[in-house]
Parts: sequence; C-alpha cells; structure tokens
Amino acid sequence: MPRQHDDWYYYSGAIHVHTTESDGTRSLEEVAKIGADAGCDFILFADHMTLSNRQAGKEGWYHKCLVLVGYEHNDVADKNHFLIFDSPGVYPNEMTAAEYVAAARRDGALGIIAHPDEQRDVMAQYPPYEWTDWSIDDVDGIELWNQMSEWMERLTKANRVLMIWSPRKSMIGPTDRVFRKWDEVNKTRKCVGIASVDAHGFPVGLGPFTFRIFPYKVHFRTLRTHLILPEKLSDDLDIARKQIYDALRDCRAFGSNIRWGDADAFEFYATGKAERVMIGGSLPTLDGAQLHVRLPEPADLKLVGNGETILETTSDHVDYHVDHPGAYRVEAWKNGRCWIFSNHIRIGLEYDRTRTEETAR
Ligand SMILES: [Zn+2]
Ligand SMILES: [Zn+2]
Repeated sequence: MPRQHDDWYYYSGAIHVHTTESDGTRSLEEVAKIGADAGCDFILFADHMTLSNRQAGKEGWYHKCLVLVGYEHNDVADKNHFLIFDSPGVYPNEMTAAEYVAAARRDGALGIIAHPDEQRDVMAQYPPYEWTDWSIDDVDGIELWNQMSEWMERLTKANRVLMIWSPRKSMIGPTDRVFRKWDEVNKTRKCVGIASVDAHGFPVGLGPFTFRIFPYKVHFRTLRTHLILPEKLSDDLDIARKQIYDALRDCRAFGSNIRWGDADAFEFYATGKAERVMIGGSLPTLDGAQLHVRLPEPADLKLVGNGETILETTSDHVDYHVDHPGAYRVEAWKNGRCWIFSNHIRIGLEYDRTRTEETAR
C-alpha cells in the first residue's frame, strides 16, 4: 500500500531477485507470494541472462505486489554484472561491458551496475564478481548496497558459524568507496543509487547441516528500495511499469534496511522561495534554498553535499540553509549500521538531467 506525503506516493519493494529460471531456488510465483506477504509493493526480478519469465507473460500483480522482470547481464569472464530492465531482449553474451551498456542505452533500457565493488577472496568457489570497467559512464544507476554481496564480503572462516546463524547481524551498509564513486558521477548528471537484495535462497552447507542463509522472506524483510511517484501506481501494467522505471531513472528513490525500523515516514525535500522538490528533484537557484530531513525516530544523520560531509547530528529532523550549489543527499545510521540513504537533490546546478535525457538531446 502506498504512503502519501503531500502530493507524493511512496512505495517500497525489492530489487534484484533470482528464480529457478537461473540460480534462484523458487519459482517467480512462489517468490512473489512471499514478497506480497512481507509487504513489498513491487519486486523487480533479474535472473542471469534470461527474460524467460517476462516472455511467459508473468509480469503483473500477485496479490498487491507488482512484479516486473528484467535480467542480469554478465560478460564472458563473468564480471561486470549489469541489471537491465525494459530492454527488447537479452543481449549477446560475447558483448563486452561497454557494448552491452551502450546497447541498453541505445534501446532506451534501464541499466544499473550490480554489486560494483566485490573484493572477497576467502572462498575459492565464490570469487568476486566486481565491476571492472569504470571508464564506462553511461549507466542509469549503481547498486550501492547488495545484501548477498555484503554478506559474502564479511564472511571469514572464523565467523562463518555466526554469520550463517544470524545473517542480518553482519549487515552494515554501503561502503565509502561506492558512495564516493556514486557522488562523483552525480556531480555531472543523475545516476540512481539503490539497495538490492540479490535474493537466491541459496542453501549453504556447514558440516553435516544445510542452511538457507537468506530465505527470500528474510531478504524481503531487510533491504528495500523506496520509490516516490507523483501519482498512484496505475492498475494498467504498461503504465505502472513506466511509473516504476521512470522513478528509478529520475532518482526519486531512497534505500533502507527495514530491520532497523520502518522507513516509510522518512522524508527528504528542499524548499526554495516558491517551490518544494523531492528526492531526485532540483531547485534552480540558491535563493532561500533549504534542505529538510524528517525521520520517524532519531538517528545519526549525515548530510552530504558534492561528496563532502557537511553536517552530522543525532536527531529526527534537520533543516539546513544551503549556501553552495550542489548535489545533496542524506544518510541515517543507527548504532553504526546504515538505516536509510537518499538519492540527491540538486540545488543551483545547471544540469538536472538523466543519462537517457542527455542522450536524447
Ligand atoms: Zn551478480
Ligand atoms: Zn544477482
């Protein structure tokens, strides 16, 4: 169900979910039911190198949960994983990352870099699948936080029993490295930052026992991406699909770990002399510009402008007078764990375009 703040509708859901069509362990229908029961308003599926669920006509509503299907592309070395939504089909596997990013751009698809920064080397059977080609500057978004990746990153031989027993305890948040790269891109154009679950429901062996460390249900009760829409989600599938993808393209999004509290009441907006804009929006001038943060309960808040921390405080709200042009965003942490991170609001900058809009010019 949407939450309404002023004239805007807020939805939350899970992005990057695998099914038995690739290396997930349940069918789309089963996963959608679990997501609907966990309160997801939408699920964006992304199996490896296949759109079979979309081709089978499985997009649509499952109870109150909207299901959309894209896919996860990888190169021949199994690096540079890229979530592609809204593409005409699956691109050839021989393409380089630069080629499939360009192909997605040409087709007006929505392309998001998956788990960009994996660095693990603990288990030979799980090598890192990092993004290697940072010369590519043509993506619509970056996964700032990937639940499965973070868990694998933190796994060591010494902590594996604890990690498997209590998997969500190990979660901290996006790394500074990824935040910095993302802020850098946002100095020149819009690029959405999301929280992804990368759900598979994998069984993991520990001695004689097999555990499902992150059943789908646990994923859906952890990382969410929240989208802000100017109108209610349509009952028409084609319109609803466009509403969801446009919100991502336009950076009307924030991520949260709902394990640390419901983030539905979170608000980040800017006011100028006569207008008020939401996350993803922009104010044309500095004239009277203020940023406002509202949280349902106090947390450690960090306001970031042009990649620099400009304010840190523990509170349930901030009102900040802006005196420099820039791209601003906010993070909320609890006990050293990331609870919420927003996308940027631009103030006094000449650009406010997405990559799609720039290419179309
Ligand atoms: Zn991947
Ligand atoms: Zn994946």
